[in-house]
Amino acid sequence: ASVVGIDLGNLSSKIGVARHRGIDIIVNEVSNRATPSLLSFTPRQRHIGEAAKTAETSNFKNTVGSLKRLIGRSINDPEVEEYEKKFINAQLVDVNGSVGVKVNYLGEPTEFSYTQLVGAYLGKLRDIAAAELKQSVSDVVLAVPGWYTDVQRRAMLDAAAIAGLNPLRLINDTTAVALGYGITKADLPESAEAPRHVVFVDVGHSNYSASVVAFSKGQLTVKSTAYDRHFGGRDFDYALVQHFAKEFDAKYKIDVLSSPKAVFRLAAGCERLKKVLSANAEAPINVESLSMDVDASSSMTREAFEQLTDHLLSRVANPIQEALAKAGLSAEEVDAIELVGGSTRIPAIKERIQALFPSKTLGFTLNQDEAVARGATFACASLSPVFRVREFAVHDIASYPIKVQWEKEAGNPDEDTELVVFPTANPLPSTKILTFYRQGPFELEAQYAEPASLPKGTNPWIGKFTVKNVEKPASGDLACVKVKARLNLHGIMNFEGAYIVEEVEKEEIVTTGEGEDKKEEKKLVKKIQRKGDCSVIGQYSGLAEAAVNDLTEKEGKMHAEDKLVMETEDRKNALEEYVYDMRGKLEDRYAAFVQSQEKADLLAGLQEAEDWLYSEEGEDATKSAYVQRLDALKVKGDPIALRWSENDARPKAAAALRETL
Ligand code: ATP
Ligand code: MG
Repeated sequence: ASVVGIDLGNLSSKIGVARHRGIDIIVNEVSNRATPSLLSFTPRQRHIGEAAKTAETSNFKNTVGSLKRLIGRSINDPEVEEYEKKFINAQLVDVNGSVGVKVNYLGEPTEFSYTQLVGAYLGKLRDIAAAELKQSVSDVVLAVPGWYTDVQRRAMLDAAAIAGLNPLRLINDTTAVALGYGITKADLPESAEAPRHVVFVDVGHSNYSASVVAFSKGQLTVKSTAYDRHFGGRDFDYALVQHFAKEFDAKYKIDVLSSPKAVFRLAAGCERLKKVLSANAEAPINVESLSMDVDASSSMTREAFEQLTDHLLSRVANPIQEALAKAGLSAEEVDAIELVGGSTRIPAIKERIQALFPSKTLGFTLNQDEAVARGATFACASLSPVFRVREFAVHDIASYPIKVQWEKEAGNPDEDTELVVFPTANPLPSTKILTFYRQGPFELEAQYAEPASLPKGTNPWIGKFTVKNVEKPASGDLACVKVKARLNLHGIMNFEGAYIVEEVEKEEIVTTGEGEDKKEEKKLVKKIQRKGDCSVIGQYSGLAEAAVNDLTEKEGKMHAEDKLVMETEDRKNALEEYVYDMRGKLEDRYAAFVQSQEKADLLAGLQEAEDWLYSEEGEDATKSAYVQRLDALKVKGDPIALRWSENDARPKAAAALRETL
């Protein structure tokens, strides 16, 4: 079995694999260590990852990103309108209550939910990993933002199922970073000593997370987390786009903002400029054919960039201060600060973070781009039965408090009707047994207890649990029902079962007294005894099993079609290549080994193949049509090639023979 960790980034994703010599971040089909988190739909096929990035410029309306932002959201969530839409070129639609896109695919307007899109994308990452490992991939650990809600986490698991993956854990991304940090440190304090406190900061493309983590030998404990869920490199790019759109408007009389294509091109130029400004005091921007053959250019100083983005920079301190406050630590009590994520390369962001820790040096000991994927891979290795890694315990905490509600039992007017079962920062995973006194079946509902802390527009509802076949016991009292509630390793809450217990009186031998007075006597003691399981029904968000199966099948079909399109393209190229290659060789190395009739015959065949390739039929034929044509040509060409190669090999063989004699 394989051991794989995935950091699904909003801009690009990174894949780690565990091998016996350690953890490697692997490269994709064009040897990049990060794969664009994009899908592009065309009349012929889907492109995913690198190919989607290539297709994006000419097909941006059918190219979809923002995968991790929109999975598990609904189109009516105010945040979709407020923050996400401006980064999306495709048309957003509602797909059975969750947000999706409508794109042109195979010549038809087609809708996909974001769960499906992420499923397809994870399938691409799976293929990249399988190609590297030369085996099929199933077990993975997926990193997700710590602020992901129950709905988002379930949607991510559904997407993984659609891709045929088996997630051993959804790990909070800053926790993954902390694990990668801790597992390599040989000098962590003994558990009796004060732990080492490290602040981890990840500023990526769309999101900013901070966490405070306490390390001791062999373990880490997340103390607190805080976020700016809408803060990342894309916001800096956006500010630059607004600025240069205005400037180019005046300079070239182009209404940039009214043309999505121009905005798209400008955004790419702005990102480049931003990166150059991280290392230089001034940077140029050049956008070719911004619109109607106008090449636009300008420049910006770092100082101007920092003024322009001051509204963003002034937010940098907040998550770190909030995380410190929640952990009850002052900046002086922190032992180290580690920065990851592409946007922590922005000098002004570093300066603002440095200002919070005047006496400390900021740490960049982790690979900024790959720390999340590495940590997720460590987590997968430690959960996988096939891999042995050093024991390192991870104590993570839940993102939001969860309460359970119920209706009052008729005979018990004083009964409460709700309980916060998993309070703020409850350890993960965690099981709680709830006790109810009931005379019949009943229902429980789980909800987030502080809806205001959730991403805006999130329905706080988590799930409903019906406990059936509860009856009044013969004694006439209420039945005592125990319900098991679990917050699992994925950060998802489920009710896992219910059972009835009874108090029974049992005769037992009890020892009383000490020394001389020691006596053994028979006594009746009250004991709690498990009587039997209740039948239960749990309902949660996320797709029903049948729906997941259906989407898995659909995804499998699309994947197979993509593969066929690629293979067809490949066979077409092979035929074309053969025509040109053979023609050249007939005049050259094969010339002495071919009879004139034979040559004329093959040349005619090659000509016919070439004409066909450029005909309407040959332009877009089936894979087998290309294969058949190539095979037919080879029947004629191979004997010639063989004669040449035998002749070519003969003197060498003779020479080799002479030497051994
Ligand atoms: P997220 O964590 O939000 O899901 P991600 O993991 O894909 O996104 P990263 O790879 O951490 O994001 O960072 C990408 C961001 O970092 C982009 O906005 C990119 O422009 C920015 N970035 C990368 N290098 C630099 C640089 N040298 N200077 C400034 N910004 C940079
Ligand atoms: Mg990231």
